[in-house]
Amino acid sequence: MQQNKNIDIKPLEFNNTWGYAPAPESAEPANIKPRYELFIGGKFIEPEKCEYFNSINPATEEVLSEIARADIADVDKAVKAARHAYDTIWSKTPGKIRAKYLYRIARMLQERAREFAITETLDGGKPIKESKDFDVPTAINWFFYYAGWADKLEYAAPGKTPKPIGVAGQIIPWNFPIMMAAWKIAPALAAGNCVVLKPAETTSLTALKLAELIQDAGLPPGVVNIVTGEGATGAAIVNHPDINKIAFTGSTRVGKLIQKSIAGTGKKLTLELGGKGANIVFDDAPIDQAVEGVINAIYFNQGHVCCAGSRLFVQENIADLFIAKLKERLKTLRIGDPMDKNTDIGAINSARQLETITDYINKGISEGGVMYQDSCATPEKGYWCKPTIFTNVAQSATIVQEEIFGPVLAVQTFRTIAEVIEKANNSYYGLSAGVWTDKGSKIFEVANRLEAGVVWANSFNKFDAASPFGGVKESGIGREGGLHGLLAYLNL
Ligand code: ADP
Repeated sequence: MQQNKNIDIKPLEFNNTWGYAPAPESAEPANIKPRYELFIGGKFIEPEKCEYFNSINPATEEVLSEIARADIADVDKAVKAARHAYDTIWSKTPGKIRAKYLYRIARMLQERAREFAITETLDGGKPIKESKDFDVPTAINWFFYYAGWADKLEYAAPGKTPKPIGVAGQIIPWNFPIMMAAWKIAPALAAGNCVVLKPAETTSLTALKLAELIQDAGLPPGVVNIVTGEGATGAAIVNHPDINKIAFTGSTRVGKLIQKSIAGTGKKLTLELGGKGANIVFDDAPIDQAVEGVINAIYFNQGHVCCAGSRLFVQENIADLFIAKLKERLKTLRIGDPMDKNTDIGAINSARQLETITDYINKGISEGGVMYQDSCATPEKGYWCKPTIFTNVAQSATIVQEEIFGPVLAVQTFRTIAEVIEKANNSYYGLSAGVWTDKGSKIFEVANRLEAGVVWANSFNKFDAASPFGGVKESGIGREGGLHGLLAYLNL
């Protein structure tokens, strides 16, 4: 690699410039109950086997609440409740009334935004500024957006007669719990379906709070059912014979299992799976903005983002400068108490996920990568991983090929467009990518040739309810958001 000489970057003074006094958010408004039951047929009911598991705060390892574990019998109850609601009420409810319920849910979520954000941070470990400024507002947006579609379905598919599918089974992951619940529930209800939704076992609380809110909103019983539990509960939803559609967001491993389980059953399927996003920085890019964008692309939400820009490709002649600036910027990121309003990097979601990330970091080192982490301290209790940069990595390295789902960036260099396209597309995944350049024509050329469902230009991780999101290759099937996301819940 050609070396840049005379790189002169003024170190940022951490203590003077970036030292903030602690500004912790109060946990009180979260109002978390000691135990949560299953939400079936509009009521909170005990699971058949009376089994519960703990939901813990990954930043402190304290138990927050006990969550009901639903088994096959409980899932059957939930599907029956959804079917009954579908046959007797929801499929006959006019679109404008469905819209009213969705608007009501959106507004009630706005009113309780603080409570939801705090709960999300306590349960999942993400910084409070993210749950407040991104997760909860995006969830609200989704309900508003799809409320607007509920009475306009005939415009969604001109010349056709759109009909709801029936009962949708929805399984979501732990990285954006309330947002994922909204992404799944809002379009399904707008299109006239009823749902059985399962949150991830480490982050059930905001979905259960949403169940309370839905109860308060007076939504007819059974239209939304929320069952909690681990993988076995998810499998019970997938395999239930009276489910018409499965919508899953999670790992590619489980996505493949689901695809096999429902093959030949006639169930519809959308999958939003893993990713290994390529973030491509050309030498004509605005460097400081690109550094900020790269930081956001991989360290946002501790890298617990399927569309994270976890592979950085920097044009060779600016690589040394860019990496030096990236390292300087890492020093200013604040890692620690997610409830502190100044925190940039919160806790890793679970002990299991931290173990996975640590294994990948060790593999990165043993395969010859050069690792960089800042020397900042992390809290003693809880699960933490410092933002990590790997240079000197081969295209075949495990950390370049596999999704880590943590704050670990693998950096490679390139000389030409052809080379970077080939490297970026050399992945099983195809969810997201980013292109940083001053030239519009280059953006179009590169974006058109990248095998990715979403390509951001001079930005990263931007979402809008009106814009479809989803992947190609092993990153998934179908789209969520926008008109595409609505059509996924309709028979035409
Ligand atoms: P991760 O490995 O990151 O936890 P998963 O894909 O395992 O991601 O989890 C995403 C969601 O899928 C969670 O709600 C989880 O409980 C659920 N799940 C896990 N295994 C299965 C399965 N075999 N069938 C259906 N859902 C599952």
